[in-house]
Order: sequence, then structure tokens, then C-alpha cells
Amino acid sequence: MTVDLVAAAKEKNIKYFLISFTDLLGTQRSKLVPAEAIATMAKNGAGFAGFATWLDMTPADPDLFAIPDPDSLMQLPWKPEVGWLAADLWMNGKPVEQAPRNMLKRLKAKAAEKGLQLKSGVECEFFLIAPDGADITDKADRQTKPCYDQAALMRRFDVVREISDGMLALGWKPYQTDHEDANGQFEMNWDYDDALVTADRHAFFKYMVKSIAEKHGMRATFMPKPFSNLTGNGCHVHVSLWKDGINAFEDDSGELGVSSLGYNFIGGIIHSADALAAILNPTVNSYKRINAPRTTSGATWSPSSVTYSGNNRTHMIRIPEPGRFELRLADGATNPYAMQAAVLAAGLDGIERQRDPGKRLDINMYQDGHLVQDAKRLPLNLLDALRALEASELLKGSLGEFVPAYLKLKHQEWNEFSRHLTDWERDMTLDC
Ligand code: ADP
Ligand code: MG
Ligand code: MG
Ligand code: MG
Ligand code: MG
Repeated sequence: MTVDLVAAAKEKNIKYFLISFTDLLGTQRSKLVPAEAIATMAKNGAGFAGFATWLDMTPADPDLFAIPDPDSLMQLPWKPEVGWLAADLWMNGKPVEQAPRNMLKRLKAKAAEKGLQLKSGVECEFFLIAPDGADITDKADRQTKPCYDQAALMRRFDVVREISDGMLALGWKPYQTDHEDANGQFEMNWDYDDALVTADRHAFFKYMVKSIAEKHGMRATFMPKPFSNLTGNGCHVHVSLWKDGINAFEDDSGELGVSSLGYNFIGGIIHSADALAAILNPTVNSYKRINAPRTTSGATWSPSSVTYSGNNRTHMIRIPEPGRFELRLADGATNPYAMQAAVLAAGLDGIERQRDPGKRLDINMYQDGHLVQDAKRLPLNLLDALRALEASELLKGSLGEFVPAYLKLKHQEWNEFSRHLTDWERDMTLDC
């Protein structure tokens, strides 16, 4: 049932709507629209100049229209007079092909043709830091193994409770909050759902966490590796595929309770992992989280190689229980929509070509990874990953216009980084 925004504004006392879209680099862009104007905006869309955002457009392009999806409506828990709406981008009367939410909807439709639906849950780790970004806010949070630290968690009760209350009010079914493996790091979990619903919630979650942290005089960051000696911000995604209301990854007679369809999906992810990294690990900084040396806590909890396992967190893919797997590759910088679309694209390819994921490894990959000679390594930096995406006919085919547009912007970013003179290279090279 589609929500009537005019009626919703009256009923929920919403005075303003934020018509919001996520560009290719994951930035959320919005127009703030009074409830009195929402009927027209809902029909025609809010206008934007595409070139002013990261969508790979030119200043000469015609207006871009963001048409809100009424079913995505979320009332800001910390400012209930505002209703947030995820929007789909249109130009010249057509959906904008490279827009991440449009791309995810295309992939969703492709799966639906086969009667399949991706359901996913995301774990968006974040740090609470000082507004200037220099350090964490809790000076007492200094344990070397700070994971699940009760005292440090409860010193931030006011912040995480407000976020948790927000998720409860929004009906996301949150079920736990904890202090994570790095000082100053937290994770809050809510129930999995349809991939598009999860992507909208993922985008909104980042906005909500940042906003509520700001309200409390702090700053929240999802940056993949803000502190080099500490565990980084992952964004694990848990995946299952459903057919006629039944989890098609679940099979009592399959290894670890996963069906052959599930293993083919995993095979697709393994096949495309290096190219997927360009989307799941989208920044220069991302490669300091994966492929990282051991952190002060004793483990990075992130992968360096393309392997899968049972309930073992040292591999890129973990099968924690029957009927689902966890992909531990993505980080906090990934685009919520592009991530789901890319995972689905790679997984569907695995199913189509019945890709074999290879042998399950049950070893401690952090300790004994060097003994596995044939494990594919993840890209070592962003350029490596971009080149892998460039070489992936499969992802270029299934993700369409997104890939060339994304590659163009990301190569610009890499080039900008390459031109940047760092302190490290001066220290290393001044006396050459
Ligand atoms: P972890 O043990 O990896 O820290 P969390 O409890 O933090 O796990 O997160 C698990 C996520 O997986 C949640 O979002 C949860 O709803 C989701 N999940 C559970 N079962 C499924 C499933 N069948 N399909 C997709 N996601 C699932
Ligand atoms: Mg103007
Ligand atoms: Mg978790
Ligand atoms: Mg975690
Ligand atoms: Mg996890």
C-alpha cells in the first residue's frame, strides 16, 4: 500500500519533508519541502542541478528530478516535525541509469523475474569522536580489548539510547547495541528485511547516528579506518534469498544447512570479489581496513583474502547458521544502494552459472592464512580495485551505466590522492 503523503503529514504532524537521494559517492542530497507543497513535489519531483552532486553529469544537463518514494517515509525521531523520503532520480522523463537507488531497483526486478528476493541485514559500525575529528570522546575508553566494555558502553548510554529509541519508533526492530572492538566504536543492530528497505534504512541510519551524535556535542564517523592502530568500521552484510516466502538458502541436507543455490550465490561473490571491492571498499582509506596489520585488540576482524568458512570470523565470508551467510568485506564508506545491488548482481551470476565457491576453509586465517597458497588476495589499494571493476564484464553488464560513471569519479579521486604530498613520503625521502 502506498502512503499518501498529504494525509501522512496531517496524521503525524509533519511540517516539512526532506526529499533525499544518495549520489554515487554516497553523499545524501536533499531539498526541504513544506508539507503544503508536498502534493506537487510528490508528483513532479524536487529539482536539482545534477552537476552540483557526484552523479557524473555536466553543468549543461537539464534539471534532475528527485521523485520521493512515499513508502520510504521516516519521521526523524530527533525532529519529528520532519519526514525523510528516499527519492528516485529522473531526467528527460527517464530514470537516471547510474543513480544507485534506481540501479538497486533494476537488480531487484531482475531477481524478481526469477521469483527471487534478496533479504539482507547490515551492521554499520561507527566511532563517536570529538567534533574536530582528532580523537574519540571518551578519554577513559582505553582498554586494549574494549569490545563489549560495559562501562564504556554505558558512558554513552544517552547517545545510543536515543538512536535505539529512534529505531524502535521507526519499527525497525532493533535488538542489540554494543561497544565494538575499537576504543570509541559502537554497533547497533536491527532486523534484516528486503534489500531496498535495508538500503534506505542504512542510508537513514548514517544520517540519524550523525545527527544524534551532533546533538550530544559529538561527531559520529563511519570512516573505514580512522585510527591506524584500531579496528576499523566494517559494514558486514548478511544475505539470504527468498522464493515464494521461503528462504531458498536454507536446506537441512546441505553443508552447514545452506542449499546449493546458496553456495552458487557464494560462488558468484567469490568469483567477483576483487571487482566488488571497488564498490564495497570505495575509498583510499578502505584499504587500510582490509589487508591491515593486527590491531591493538589482537585482530582486525576484516579479510585480506577471498575465502569462506563456517562460523569463523577470520574469512571474507562466514556461514554463521543455516540459511544465510555474512559478507565481511564492505566498510562504512560503501554506498548503501550500490552495495546491495553489487552483491545481488554477483550472486545472481553465481546462480546463473552455477559457480562453485571452492573449498570451505576452517582454519584461523589470521594465523595460518599464509599456508593457503591458492587463495585469491583482495585488492591492495583503490586503484587495484577500480581496475578489477573495469575488467569485470559481468558487473559492467549487470550494473549498467553506474559502472563507467562511478569509475570516472573514483579515478579522479585516486588521481587527486596520488598528487597529494604526504608527511610519510617527506620523512622517507627528504634525505635520499
Ligand atoms: P554478527 O554476529 O555478525 O555481529 P549481528 O547480530 O550484528 O551479527 O547482525 C546480524 C544481521 O544479520 C542482522 O541485521 C540480522 O537481522 C541479519 N540476519 C539474520 N538472519 C538473516 C537472514 N536469514 N538473512 C539476512 N539477514 C539476516
Ligand atoms: Mg536556484
Ligand atoms: Mg555485529
Ligand atoms: Mg561488528
Ligand atoms: Mg558481523
